[in-house]
Amino acid sequence: MPDAYVLFGFPVHHSWSPFIHGMFARQTGQEMSYRLFETPPERFRNDALAFFTGGGAGANVTLPHKRAAADLVNELTRRAQLADAVNTIVCRDECLLGDNTDGAGLLADLTQNLKLRWSSPRILLLGAGGAARGAMAPLLSLEPELLVIANRTAHRAVALAREFAELGPIAGCEFSKLEHRRFDLIVNATSASLHGDVPLVPIDVVDSTTTCYDMAYGAGDTAFVAWAKRLGAARAEPGWGMLVEQAAEAFQLWRGIRPDTAPVLDALRRRAATAARSPS
Ligand code: NDP
Repeated sequence: MPDAYVLFGFPVHHSWSPFIHGMFARQTGQEMSYRLFETPPERFRNDALAFFTGGGAGANVTLPHKRAAADLVNELTRRAQLADAVNTIVCRDECLLGDNTDGAGLLADLTQNLKLRWSSPRILLLGAGGAARGAMAPLLSLEPELLVIANRTAHRAVALAREFAELGPIAGCEFSKLEHRRFDLIVNATSASLHGDVPLVPIDVVDSTTTCYDMAYGAGDTAFVAWAKRLGAARAEPGWGMLVEQAAEAFQLWRGIRPDTAPVLDALRRRAATAARSPS
């Protein structure tokens, strides 16, 4: 029997992860299975424990279970502790280790795939949910002049900024306080794009030198990417690369081998472009 991996989520049918891990496994010659495991919040804990008791080797975890997964595992990596959320579990010697590879995936996409370089950038992080939290330490590793977190519910941004204050220069605020401030990099970690919306931030945060990055991805431009392009941003990128890079980090944790992400990212982008062209 090949080692068994799953993705826990609710809903999960739309996920690209089986495609990504299938390509990684073929590329690296790994004998493994990877399937979707849809489970509602009230069943997640029992289902996950049953999967691992039954010999499951590892799992990815997506919405809405990332926080519950942090409570489920026996041990957390440092980055999972900082994110207070788990998106990857590996079972070793009957012990469950929880990791969070989202932030590393974001950083790898920005610096390795997109080859973005800054000296003391001014960074704006939109959102204060799980993905934003996981991005804090990786974004601070870019040694920004300032990292501003802004959120629709402002007190969540302020609380997050306070929590990470020891790691670097951070401020938290509401969207309206961003007026007349410019940024080198804006990362959209809100889920607004999933509903075709854009966070209500002042448009002058973007100019022709700004790179805008949406963690969300989809067929065609996300709402945030389209908005950034309309405002003349230097670059506007969706989160496909983050998706593939966080998966590569998980794969390495499970299998001890680093897959080549470039062909997988190319294949995903081609599929997304085809989906955008075909009538719905
Ligand atoms: P959460 O539900 O934890 O957080 C959602 C955040 O979005 C909150 O800050 C919320 O603000 C904000 N928000 C929601 N709707 C709007 C809106 N209309 N306008 C402004 N703000 C809004 O989600 P996650 O943090 O887990 O995920 C965020 C995004 O990141 C999703 O699009 C997800 O798909 C993406 N993601 C991508 C990954 C990748 O690999 N590319 C990996 C992980 C996440 P409030 O506090 O006011 O409710």
